[in-house]
Amino acid sequence: MKIKSTQFVKGITGDDEILHDGVPEIAFIGRSNVGKSSVINSLLNARELARTGKKQGKTREINFFLVNEKYYFVDLPGYGFAQGGLDDREKIRDMIIQYFSRTENNIHTVAVIIDAKVGLTNFDRDMIEILYDNEHRVVLIVNKTDKLNQKELSTQLRSIESECLGIEILPYSAVINKGAGFVLENLIA
Ligand code: GDP
Repeated sequence: MKIKSTQFVKGITGDDEILHDGVPEIAFIGRSNVGKSSVINSLLNARELARTGKKQGKTREINFFLVNEKYYFVDLPGYGFAQGGLDDREKIRDMIIQYFSRTENNIHTVAVIIDAKVGLTNFDRDMIEILYDNEHRVVLIVNKTDKLNQKELSTQLRSIESECLGIEILPYSAVINKGAGFVLENLIA
C-alpha cells in the first residue's frame, strides 16, 4: 500500500459516531513508551502525525487517522503506565476493551507493539489473550530492534515466537524505518 494521504480525524473517549461509519480500522496498542506513535508516524511517513494527539494533551484519547481515504489507523492509549497508578491502568484497560466492544466498523487487524529489548510483559499477554478471545486478527510489531545486536535479537525473537504461536511477528525499528512497506502490507493483508 502506497501512502497517498493521511489526516488526523479526531480523538474520542467513549462512544462516538466514528465507530459506526463503516470505515475499516487497523488498531495499534501497546505499553506506554514502546514507540507506538513513532511506529505509526514512520509507517505513514508522516513525522508528526501521531503526536498531534499528544501535543493537545490527548494521550488518554483514542485517536483516529484516516489513511488513503480508506482505513482508520486507530491509536489506542498506552497501557501499563507505571506513574499512572493502578486506578489509571484499570481505566485505560477498560477504555481499550470498551472500544473493541463498541466499534461496529470492521477491525481488520490489531497491531500489538512491544519493545524488542523488554520483550513481552504481562500487560501485553493480557491484551493478546483478550484479543484472541474476541477473534481479532493480531500481529505483533517488535519495535526498537536497533537497540539489540543480531544475536540478542534472534534470541529475543525466538522467545517471543515460542509464546505467540500463530501470531505474525514483525521485527521493526521506527528509528531505522526499514521495512515499513512490508509491515504496512501485512497490516492490510
Ligand atoms: P509511545 O508512548 O508508545 O507513543 O512512544 P513514542 O513514540 O513517544 O516513543 C517513546 C520513546 O521511544 C521516544 O523517545 C522515541 O524516540 C523512542 N523510540 C521509538 N521508536 C524507537 C525505535 O524504533 N528505536 C529506538 N531506539 N527508539 C525508539
